[in-house]
Amino acid sequence: MLTGRCLCEAVAYEIEGELGPIFNCHCSKCRRWHGSAFRTRASVAAHQFRWVRGEASVQGYTGGNVTKHFCSTCGSNLISTYADRPSVIGLPLGGLDQHPGATPQAHIFVDSKSPWHEITDALPQYPQWPGDEAAVRQTSSASSHDG
Ligand SMILES: [Zn+2]
Ligand SMILES: [Zn+2]
Repeated sequence: MLTGRCLCEAVAYEIEGELGPIFNCHCSKCRRWHGSAFRTRASVAAHQFRWVRGEASVQGYTGGNVTKHFCSTCGSNLISTYADRPSVIGLPLGGLDQHPGATPQAHIFVDSKSPWHEITDALPQYPQWPGDEAAVRQTSSASSHDG
């Protein structure tokens, strides 16, 4: 069980089971949303995710297919949901209370990387998706049920 919360602690959530593969996304939307060089994120199955408290404080901003959910009090970024994929949730790792048991696999959308940020680790770098979007939206839950 993983837990996470927003900065003001009004909102808390928990995640059953493991995260999907972790990526550092350098796309301009992630950079703007997080106000940072990149967003470290993983996917989880919707049934793995549960709000523990403060769901009434969670607001959403929808751009195209994606809704970004955030705390209306402190502005912390919480999760992403996808109109075309309601069974999957996108999770930024910064809100987690624990080590998720895995580390980022690759940098993605490096074509959109901030010009002032230099990637200095040896992880693979992909100009956009690492193969396809499904590789990023993959959850541990989905893969374990496939087998
Ligand atoms: Zn908050
Ligand atoms: Zn991104």
